[in-house]
Amino acid sequence: MLMTDLIAAKRDGRELSTEEIEFFVNGFTSGQIPDYQMSAMCMAILFRGMNDREILDLTLAMERSGDILDLSKINGIKADKHSTGGVGDKTTLVLGPMIASLGVKFAKMSGRGLGHTGGTIDKLESFSGFSTAISDEQFIEDVNSIGIAIAGQTANLVPADKKMYALRDVTGTVPSIPLIVSSIMSKKLASGADIIVLDVKCGEGSFMKTEVEAQQLASQLVRVGKLAGRKVTAVITDMDEPLGYAVGNALEVKEAIAALKGEECGELMNLCLTLGSYILLDAGIAQSEDEARQMLSLTVKDGSALDKLAELIKAQGGDAAAVYDTSLLPDAPVKLDVASNCQGYVEHIAAEEVGLISMHLGGGRITKDSVIDLSVGVVLNKKVGDHVDAGEVIGTIHAATAEAAAEAADDLRECYSITEDKVSKKAFIKSVVR
Ligand code: URA
Repeated sequence: MLMTDLIAAKRDGRELSTEEIEFFVNGFTSGQIPDYQMSAMCMAILFRGMNDREILDLTLAMERSGDILDLSKINGIKADKHSTGGVGDKTTLVLGPMIASLGVKFAKMSGRGLGHTGGTIDKLESFSGFSTAISDEQFIEDVNSIGIAIAGQTANLVPADKKMYALRDVTGTVPSIPLIVSSIMSKKLASGADIIVLDVKCGEGSFMKTEVEAQQLASQLVRVGKLAGRKVTAVITDMDEPLGYAVGNALEVKEAIAALKGEECGELMNLCLTLGSYILLDAGIAQSEDEARQMLSLTVKDGSALDKLAELIKAQGGDAAAVYDTSLLPDAPVKLDVASNCQGYVEHIAAEEVGLISMHLGGGRITKDSVIDLSVGVVLNKKVGDHVDAGEVIGTIHAATAEAAAEAADDLRECYSITEDKVSKKAFIKSVVR
């Protein structure tokens, strides 16, 4: 088989066979197929697309390119959750403990943040001593004993995706549905869960700018997951403003803890109840969405979800006392309130830009090796639809120095679009694909 023939075939719109797809995925992973040929293949896929069978074959070939987690030693039903990348997204920290306290096993591999998006692993390291570099054995033992573990992705999980994603990033081939689906689903399948819930972000600051595109991506993710024998649900959510109020590692942990204490009942909790209810339905633990939402809400009311977070932190070596006393979490020395210089209604908050402010304050990585400051970030005080008076606080900057805070304050004002006309809040959850 020759890679040049396969590239030409896809360029001309021909369907690729299972063997042909396995050939180029294996060849590229092992280094036999060079970057320039794989770039051409990615571009041909971007323009010509792939049918369901080809996408499944691509996903499975990528899944098998490295280690596959064997979760068969975990008793019970295993669930996993994935987000296509957002700003202020602390959902895992709330959802995981909620569903684990109801008996569904939450076995999650998470990543670190890069650029304007945060990563769950970094957020969890706000608890002093917490380690995500746990062995497969400990991962399995923790899930069996307390129902939850969150580990960093092992180096050899889906190496094909690591190489392909790096190439797509620099060749204009990221926004291709077959390539996004195979990238996400290969990692989810290799992580071994029976039930997968996906949060597909839609809007500025996400891969899918329109609802139609997000719907197409969500449908394809669900189709491939089902073909691979997993129970998959995708929830399409709005990303035209950050999720919740806090952006920055320890600040997001504090917001997640507030949610688990029942002090937050906005879109963050709504999203957790929605994703969680599909997990409980697929696990056969609840018979209706209403029942599932009530069960999940009860884990907050009776404190069991908060206690589960503390168990997770303790099991992975962290200071669990900080779950109950958040003053023990990293705290930035400088806090600067940012006042609005005009009056009106918030029409839009540039999510990606808010993520970049947090990154420039030191909360995110510019390169993979950057050392981050867990304490810094932004806490919004106004969200889309809210009324703002001139001089009223729209958000607070948490920074290491007064200079950094002052610079970030100007940037935050620019993130807000404020209009005289009343703005109604948009539906945060746009649709669900099951
Ligand atoms: N997230 C991924 O993991 N892969 C993509 O291609 C896009 C988003």
